[in-house]
Amino acid sequence: MSIELPEAKILAEQINKELRGKRVKSYRLQDYERLQRIGMLDKDIKSFNQLVDGKIEFITSRGNVIRVKLNNGMNLILAPEYGGKIFYHTSEKTVPEKFHLKVDFSDNTGLTVRLTSMGLIHALKDNDLERSYVFRRDFNPEVLSPIDEEFTFERFSKLLAENNRMLKSVLVGKDAVVVGLSNSAFQDIVYRARLHPKRKASELNKDERQALYDAIGLVLQERIRLKGKDQFYDLYGNQGGYTPAMGPNMKQQTCPMCGTPIEKLSVGGGHVCFCPKCQK
Ligand SMILES: [Zn+2]
Repeated sequence: MSIELPEAKILAEQINKELRGKRVKSYRLQDYERLQRIGMLDKDIKSFNQLVDGKIEFITSRGNVIRVKLNNGMNLILAPEYGGKIFYHTSEKTVPEKFHLKVDFSDNTGLTVRLTSMGLIHALKDNDLERSYVFRRDFNPEVLSPIDEEFTFERFSKLLAENNRMLKSVLVGKDAVVVGLSNSAFQDIVYRARLHPKRKASELNKDERQALYDAIGLVLQERIRLKGKDQFYDLYGNQGGYTPAMGPNMKQQTCPMCGTPIEKLSVGGGHVCFCPKCQK
């Protein structure tokens, strides 16, 4: 279950509501050595000491990345890219046994973070934010965020026309022209836009570009409106209500539009489910 733009935004807004203005009393890391070995958590955990006594100034998200900014020049960067659970606690009773990071606040509330797959947890100074790959990728103002006003059809259309790469790498990953989409949203979007997952961006005609633009907007807005994907749990442990129209959930099923069996393709380092009849 990946945490993409809609889920990161939902979590950031909830964290902002609950934690803004609170002072960090202490923190605890556990079962983190494996995360360190594969670069998912700071090599030197002393960086987390610097969160202590900091007061939370604001929380923002861009793309898949959540930034918790403290007033002492520190930041907690959370990017549970391929899965994670971030929960708020008003009592120790709700604290799960398994977590990687627990932050306690001076009013005895707490936050737990657990990465269930690939992702990142960083404690970084303001000046070191650029050292974080995910921060650089998603907070880069030169790459459009598809929920911002500047993401217009005209701009998107131009970016597609300039790119003769496959749609997957134009929409997902480090060379994408937008932030916040992973393989999960990609499958849903190209199905709704009725585009084959291996199409090249520059070869789309105007109607196809418009369909793709509309599908991005629809998928993101619906996922935000329905409080995240159905496998996502928000800050309070509530499950999301959005089921993707296409994705691993459609494996071994038939297309709801035309009845053709769904197929699976390997595209750009991931599996993509699609309808061979509807998606051209
Ligand atoms: Zn179909």
